Amino acid sequence: MNDVLPGEAHLWEFLEDTVRAWLRAYGYRGIRTPVLERTELFVRSIGAATDIVEKEMYTFVDELNGESLALRPEGTAACVRAVIEHNLLYAGPQRLCYWGPMFRHERPQKGRYRQFHQVGVEALGFPGPDIDAEHLVMCARLWRRLGLDGIALDLNTLGDASARARYRARLVKHLERNEARLDADSKRRLHANPLRVLDSKNPDMKEIVEQAPRLADDLDETSLRQFEALQAMLRDATVEFRINTRLVRGLDYYNGAVYEWVSDRLGAQNAVCAGGRYDGLVEHIGGKPTPACGFAMGVERLLVLLKAGAAAAPRGADVYLLRQGAAAERYGARVAEQLREAGLSVVLHCGGGGFKSQMKKADTSGARFAVIVGDDEAASDVVSVKPLREAAQQIRASVAEAIDLIKGKA
Ligand code: ATP
Ligand code: MG
Repeated sequence: MNDVLPGEAHLWEFLEDTVRAWLRAYGYRGIRTPVLERTELFVRSIGAATDIVEKEMYTFVDELNGESLALRPEGTAACVRAVIEHNLLYAGPQRLCYWGPMFRHERPQKGRYRQFHQVGVEALGFPGPDIDAEHLVMCARLWRRLGLDGIALDLNTLGDASARARYRARLVKHLERNEARLDADSKRRLHANPLRVLDSKNPDMKEIVEQAPRLADDLDETSLRQFEALQAMLRDATVEFRINTRLVRGLDYYNGAVYEWVSDRLGAQNAVCAGGRYDGLVEHIGGKPTPACGFAMGVERLLVLLKAGAAAAPRGADVYLLRQGAAAERYGARVAEQLREAGLSVVLHCGGGGFKSQMKKADTSGARFAVIVGDDEAASDVVSVKPLREAAQQIRASVAEAIDLIKGKA
């Protein structure tokens, strides 16, 4: 679990601001659910034979009523629970989004934390594939807005429930034939959740996975047609993708299109975003049958990419305001408010001291401009402005001129 210190807070804020504007651009509305839910909700929605439910959840028994509660390991289950509980689908299909901390008791390693953050989107009540295309187009736009390249889209379809049942039977036969070579996890999953074996990260499983039968051979007509249509929409929108028939997603209630966005700059934990269709889930946890799809992205992994790239995240304020002298102290405080009134961000120097030591603070603050006031500036109602990120002359200007200059209008 990580502390986010002020030195990297600007990156978080840049990401939060960008994500918020991006979600609004597509008409997604926020939903905020508690960090704690009944353990049962996750067992039902994620599935018993999954990494998350088998070994990654932080659970405890509420002593008041003996109920088992869990820190949420992901956002979809709670979102769907809230939608059912508050009958939101009564008003028609819903485009929803969330941002927040998730908790998984994983072996600590690069890119895997026990508290991490996800941005997620769920669209409930849309049969697709137009909405599936919307989700992928919108992800592609977010990468552009964040200035990230090198994120590739892997796409597959899981077909409908009967296609998966047919495939499952063939896969189990194949795995049984190779049972002696399966690792402990895969042996356990062989009957409980055989599709998950294909997700195995263990290199020793690679050969068995490669030789496994193909889901594509069992697909139903409708799913195939939908998948074709989705691909056509992506081509129209010039979103590049590659079909990866090994991509299965571990959760029980996925069907139809599933996908992962992966970066080649993250090492082993290379997925930044994962999602797909889960038409069975709403009914499975007590609602009416409702088509649904969504995705979740890992915020910490996006931040790694942002740090690596030359991301345009502003590091400091627009202005560090220096002031020395009794009149300048009061005048400077007023000027700072005027600059803020004009929409600029201003760090007002506090704690006194000479101009030299104040200028050092201005430099290390990461601000773009120093605005300097002494008693003579205060007497003539002007300021001195000095750009800090480029070699340029300090100039005297009225407050209004200074505002234009800092905003790049002068
Ligand atoms: P994996 O198969 O790698 O364990 P997952 O299936 O558990 O992935 P999802 O549940 O689909 O991952 O989560 C969506 C995204 O959230 C991931 O693509 C990743 O970016 C991020 N994520 C998941 N678990 C963690 C974690 N422990 N720490 C940081 N980010 C995570
Ligand atoms: Mg995982």
